[in-house]
Amino acid sequence: MREKKLKRRRRRLEAQGRMVNGVEVPDGEIPADISKQAPAGYSSRYYYRDKEFTCVECGAVEVWTAKDQKWYFEVIKAYPASEAIRCLKCRKKRRIHKAEQRRHMEEVAEKSKKRT
Ligand SMILES: [Zn+2]
Repeated sequence: MREKKLKRRRRRLEAQGRMVNGVEVPDGEIPADISKQAPAGYSSRYYYRDKEFTCVECGAVEVWTAKDQKWYFEVIKAYPASEAIRCLKCRKKRRIHKAEQRRHMEEVAEKSKKRT
């Protein structure tokens, strides 16, 4: 009896796309497409849920949304064990800082090219 019920439930979940690798996706969470993730074995993500974290740089508490995670792991192909550690503001700051550094390096390289 119970067995049948479980099977039916499983079929229904599968039809709804709520079974990933035999793991049931909890209500309100986004199922993952493991085939789109970078290969990671046990670290693969089966589903995504909104996650609160504290920024390592400024201490702000931010939510890493399930939607952003799906994009990060399946479009950007980030390693599935990675976690968010910086808030949006600090990420932006870092990006600008890196771009400035790159520009500076290019200028230096350009100058040394002219000299030789
Ligand atoms: Zn921050």
